[in-house]
Amino acid sequence: MSEILVLVDHVDGVVRKTTTELLTIARRLGEPSAVFVGSGYEQAKDTLVAFGAQKVYLLEEPELTEHLVAPKAEALAQLAERCQPAAILLTSSPEGKEIAGRLAIKLSSGLVTDVVDVVPGPDGSPVTTQSVFAGNYTVQARVTRGTPILTVKPNAATPETAPAQPVEEKAAVTISDAAKAARIVERAPRTQTGRPELTEAAIVVSGGRGVGSADSFALIEGLADALGGAVGASRAAVDSGWYPHAYQVGQTGKTVSPQLYVAAGISGAIQHRAGMQTSKTIAVVNKDPEAPIFEMADFGVVGDLHKVVPQATEEINQRKG
Ligand SMILES: Cc1cc2nc3c(=O)[nH]c(=O)nc-3n(C[C@H](O)[C@H](O)[C@H](O)COP(=O)(O)OP(=O)(O)OC[C@H]3O[C@@H](n4cnc5c(N)ncnc54)[C@H](O)[C@@H]3O)c2cc1C
Repeated sequence: MSEILVLVDHVDGVVRKTTTELLTIARRLGEPSAVFVGSGYEQAKDTLVAFGAQKVYLLEEPELTEHLVAPKAEALAQLAERCQPAAILLTSSPEGKEIAGRLAIKLSSGLVTDVVDVVPGPDGSPVTTQSVFAGNYTVQARVTRGTPILTVKPNAATPETAPAQPVEEKAAVTISDAAKAARIVERAPRTQTGRPELTEAAIVVSGGRGVGSADSFALIEGLADALGGAVGASRAAVDSGWYPHAYQVGQTGKTVSPQLYVAAGISGAIQHRAGMQTSKTIAVVNKDPEAPIFEMADFGVVGDLHKVVPQATEEINQRKG
């Protein structure tokens, strides 16, 4: 069976859910080989084993993590030239996409970014699905040159376990001076909110312009905490300075696909929908019964969110006892 390289996305060995999704997708196409860069493999191992990595390439050269993305792209290119994989999968994050772009040039290969689904085509090569123009069109594509390089968006697949006994191989790579031009001088951990990561959360509660102020976002946070969910925001709320851009949901923000998406004070513009329309259940609070967001709601409340959201939070907290 053909080998599919998956670049592991991790923080000090804590593997992100997106990698378990990539391993699940890789198993549709062939035999997944995880490419682990940096330190923390002992911690990551259990997850990679559980999600079916048949092989793990360990890239431990310090240069790979001391510099920006260029060394990683060089290392992946050398590995790909050696093992001739049938495809290379990366997370569709800013870093994943930059590595993928550089890799595609080095390997003279086709690249498809922001993929939302991957299936094997008639010849076994990957056929990708992308959702483009704010979700108005669905595009199917196949790489016709070189090794297909795909960056896959979070939540493109439900992670499925398939325990494996991976073969571990330390892969030696050489990094050019040109790739070491930008050095990382400092890393600062993001302030922990205690809430789940937005793109990985099973429940997301988002607030829009209707929230009215930065202070009132406490209502959205309160409901998110009662539900054990993450907080999101519309661009209008972010542009107003009420919530950081890292939490923006939509075309120019994050894509989420939770079990439950709660939209409070959000009108439902197409650019917002692009980031949340694949949510399994959508609940809406909006004072305007004509707001377009109601068209996609499974459950809608017409009312002032400043009254509805605290009531809902209180009720949920009471039921939790
Ligand atoms: C290129 C481009 C990219 C974009 N990318 C994004 C993106 O990534 N994400 C995104 O969200 N937008 C994006 N936008 C902006 C988008 O077009 C909308 O302007 C934005 O989504 C509107 O945010 P909103 O729904 O919070 O605000 P509004 O459209 O102003 O809607 C506010 C809603 O709140 C309701 N409301 C007001 N007060 C209350 C209350 N007290 N209680 C209950 N409801 C109330 C109103 O009835 C209204 O429906 C993009 C636009 C462009 C052009």
